[in-house]
Amino acid sequence: MALLELKDVRKSYGYDENKVDAISHINLTIEEGSFVAIVGKSGSGKSTLHKIITMSLDTQGEYFIDTKDMNKLSNKEKKQFIKEHMGIVNQNPIFIRDLTINDHINLCQSLLNGYQVDEYVQFLQLEEVLNKYPLQLSSGEKMRVAILLAMIHQPEILVFDEPTASLDSYHTHIVVEMIKKYAQSGHYVIVFTHDKILKDVADSLYIIENNKLTSVTREKGNYKNSISLLKANKKSYLYFLFKMYKHQFFFKSMTLLLISLTIAIGCF
Ligand code: ADP
Ligand code: MG
Repeated sequence: MALLELKDVRKSYGYDENKVDAISHINLTIEEGSFVAIVGKSGSGKSTLHKIITMSLDTQGEYFIDTKDMNKLSNKEKKQFIKEHMGIVNQNPIFIRDLTINDHINLCQSLLNGYQVDEYVQFLQLEEVLNKYPLQLSSGEKMRVAILLAMIHQPEILVFDEPTASLDSYHTHIVVEMIKKYAQSGHYVIVFTHDKILKDVADSLYIIENNKLTSVTREKGNYKNSISLLKANKKSYLYFLFKMYKHQFFFKSMTLLLISLTIAIGCF
């Protein structure tokens, strides 16, 4: 069964004779556990569709999640649905100026009954910004915090608008790995992006062009995982391995095994 369905969705901006379609005749069906990337040039309508899916823009057309008609929900029901089921990252994340990042995490945890996020904090390398205020963060750091906050309650649906636009290649790979694993663990993820890596890693790919959304069929050879893409960039890959060494059980176990073997061979 399709979990998320858009049928003949359309959005225009402006009034009367100045009305212009930003997107039109949009049809999209997403199955559970899939990682969908929607690509398109600047101005093609990505953020508009992101806002429609995250229900911050009213629209014409039909919108179902798990057969629930989203257009029939009241504003209060929409907010409740988002709180329980969606993690959202906007193109320009908004923070509360007078709260530290740690305060943001605590606030989201109590509002959303969130889980412990130490693992994510480490994975996204946010330890050093926890006691800082939003104004002290770079745009890449803000984006990684926004990603962390969106995932705090382990929502079934993640909807990201250009999550890697402000990230360097090393942090892009970390985020891509995280998103991919999240989709593989039975959640579904929709990412609006320009990013080639996200595009290559996603299970399915759509393009927005001339106001329309079209599915893109890819050859198998184009379908790479992000680690192999990272390997192509040796410097970033070595840095990635070095950083991951701190967090990953696999690397720690392999090192211990190697040390034990060396000692055993030495003794022998
Ligand atoms: P993208 O995210 O792909 O860059 P957007 O969805 O932001 O594209 O914008 C799609 C089109 O809709 C653009 O032509 C943009 O100028 C127009 N648009 C977006 N938001 C508004 C708005 N609030 N009012 C009028 N036009 C808008
Ligand atoms: Mg946009």
